[in-house]
Amino acid sequence: MVKYINREFKTALNKLKFPDSWFWARYTINPYSGCEHACVYCDARSNRYYLQEIQDFENEVIIKTDIDKKLDLRIKRARTLLPDVVAMGGVNDSYQQIEKKAENTMKILKVFFKYKFPVCISTKSNLIIRDLELFEKIATNTWCAIGFSITTMDEELARFLEPFSSTPEERLEALKIIKKKAPNVQVGINFMPIIPFLCDTNKNLDKVIRKSSEAGAEFVLFSGLTLRDSQKDFFIKKLKKSNYKDAVQPLLDLYNGKKENWQEYYMRLNKKLLNLCKKYNLQVRMKRWIPKDYRKWNYKISELLLNKEYKDSLEGKSDSSMKWAGLNLNNLEESILDVYKRGEMPKLRNFNSKIIKFITPYLNRSKDLNLKKGLDKFL
Ligand code: SF4
Repeated sequence: MVKYINREFKTALNKLKFPDSWFWARYTINPYSGCEHACVYCDARSNRYYLQEIQDFENEVIIKTDIDKKLDLRIKRARTLLPDVVAMGGVNDSYQQIEKKAENTMKILKVFFKYKFPVCISTKSNLIIRDLELFEKIATNTWCAIGFSITTMDEELARFLEPFSSTPEERLEALKIIKKKAPNVQVGINFMPIIPFLCDTNKNLDKVIRKSSEAGAEFVLFSGLTLRDSQKDFFIKKLKKSNYKDAVQPLLDLYNGKKENWQEYYMRLNKKLLNLCKKYNLQVRMKRWIPKDYRKWNYKISELLLNKEYKDSLEGKSDSSMKWAGLNLNNLEESILDVYKRGEMPKLRNFNSKIIKFITPYLNRSKDLNLKKGLDKFL
């Protein structure tokens, strides 16, 4: 039995120093603390989130009281809070069971709609379709992306890994419904975490990506498993007691670098995933929300740089200056077009000659009407 606790929190919205290039989020919000989905691999159990210190993560769920009122006040009072993408569902699922009754997520979404903030949600629950009209309104107003997290199509394995969430088939059904009834919402699959020796068979990789494509997903974001401190201890303990205990030693060997290099493993896996996404016509990045103010070109060029860096990194050609140039550009307080016109691009952080050479053709096209076409073609 999950214990529910009502508690008031001082802050509602967290602002990130840089957006992430997965969900393009600039803010995060958690309607609850703790998650009754109780996935055995959940990274929220790692020490960096301090959640284990304040509660029994999956058996005690804290309902943040009046979170929508706090959020409303925060946005209304903060003059410097520009609308930008808010990610929901980082260290808990916004559509876990208690949402049916508490409706914190729905109340928060109404506030974001009111203030024209774009929203990105990750979930493993089909309860999300309850709010599809709201999503469509947000998407029409600004931008809305929904990613269903799926790590395996094997029902038995999914029941062990994610005991209290909707089944993978139910998640795909929910995606289909959103795609049909809320056509302006960007939908996709977060294929993560892909657990070595459990979810990385060719059969599973193909099935998850094929089924995602058949359901109407536009993107598949994929990533491996983190194995950190208390998250690792919990997961390995559960695995040892399960029908999947044979995976324990190979998994530990892989992460300890005994049998093969961890990076080499993921390089091989990424190659397979890239090929499957190509085969089933799926993007490996979601399309970014682009503001209409001075940030417009900063965000477009940032998306260009971060997507390129990501795709290069999948092939082992990581370029940290490209990544940092892309990230820092989000904090520029004027348009990059103005900087370009003044010939001051080398003054921008991490903008070396290689990066300037790469983006200049796109900036030049900004003088033409064809500009958007040029960028979209590349992305
Ligand atoms: S749904 Fe997400 S936050 Fe909740 S337990 Fe599973 S992985 Fe953790």
